[in-house]
Amino acid sequence: PDKIRYKTKIAVIGAGQAGLSAAYHLKKLGLAIGPDFIILDAAPSAGGAWQYRWPSLTLSTVNKVHDLPGMSFEETLEKADKTVQASIAEPHYYELYEQKFGIEVYRPVKVENVYLRNDRFYIDTSETLFSAMGIINATGTWENPYIPSYPGADLFHGEQLHTKDFKTADYFKGKHVVVVGAGISAIQLLDQISKVTTTTWVTRRPPVFRELPFDEAAGHNAVSLVDERVRNGLPPLSVVSVTGLPLSPEVIDMKKRGVINRFPMFSEITRDGVKWEDGREQKADIILWNTGFKGALQHLDAVLPREQSGGIIMAGRLATMVAKEPRIHLPGYGPSASTIGANRAGSVAVRELMTTLGLAVK
Ligand code: FAD
Repeated sequence: PDKIRYKTKIAVIGAGQAGLSAAYHLKKLGLAIGPDFIILDAAPSAGGAWQYRWPSLTLSTVNKVHDLPGMSFEETLEKADKTVQASIAEPHYYELYEQKFGIEVYRPVKVENVYLRNDRFYIDTSETLFSAMGIINATGTWENPYIPSYPGADLFHGEQLHTKDFKTADYFKGKHVVVVGAGISAIQLLDQISKVTTTTWVTRRPPVFRELPFDEAAGHNAVSLVDERVRNGLPPLSVVSVTGLPLSPEVIDMKKRGVINRFPMFSEITRDGVKWEDGREQKADIILWNTGFKGALQHLDAVLPREQSGGIIMAGRLATMVAKEPRIHLPGYGPSASTIGANRAGSVAVRELMTTLGLAVK
């Protein structure tokens, strides 16, 4: 009852690649921060989820990271030093970006819950109750790690960690680690951990390695597969899961070291490790789940129409529009969950939402 109330037209939630791209385009169309739109972010500083990435993820170990609209990343680097940590370089770039374009992000402001009353969205945060006609939700996936459930998970005496918890390989020294997952993160962490301790690698399906380089056509193909899924209301797959794994020099080295010795998924977790259907057991101190993330959309539960499959039917040019609630856009969700995708999605979401809301595009 004592909360400050603040009324605007469009609320952008999240200031990562997708949210900043949206804010840039809103400003470019002449909308003012405050009366016309606001941008909120839960994190303490600029950088979106990049500020949380593990220290060994450097500019040479990320894939291609796309620029934000209107300013190049390269020009914000002291020198094009590829050993710089992504968790430092990217947030630095975002910070300069916000300054350059006067994008004042309200932070740290975590959106707890969004609901509809009298045709307006109410965006509830700890101190302020914002209200808006439309929402551009760009909250990414980092806040919603996914760990599949397996029988016995509660019995395990060791530690269960997720990609999100990884800081350094040293932490795993002297422990046997079961690494779960077939994505890029799984491979990168398996590489680092297997250099300091023993590992067992398990994946649901046999991993598919593809020769470098990965051409643009294959990239488009992967994105359109995810695009088609969300347009049909199915939960998205990660774009990487449909592109396959690059056969990088690290992977070739891991093969030589005997680390790429993949086992199928175990069927249960025991007190001391994991167990397969055929009765084989592996003792483990840590199970590291590199099983991905889902859209961090919990705060939208009351306003997002979900299908029985758990997915959301998406529409619009880049599938950012919630088909059954076109006043909500989700740039960065599904096919746009990459830096290049989030960039484009932010721009398209702005134009389509302004049209839906009847706000003139100047
Ligand atoms: P984010 O960057 O996650 O930003 C979301 C923001 O929303 C955060 O700042 C968060 O604080 C905020 N937020 C979340 N919930 C709330 C809430 N309830 N209230 C308020 N704010 C909230 N992509 C590439 O293109 N190239 C790469 O090389 C690459 N490498 C990657 C490496 C790793 C390890 C991972 C995990 C991802 C990588 N990606 C890469 C994917 C890419 O980082 C993301 O797709 C993209 O940056 C996501 O941008 P975003 O704006 O959607 O989300």
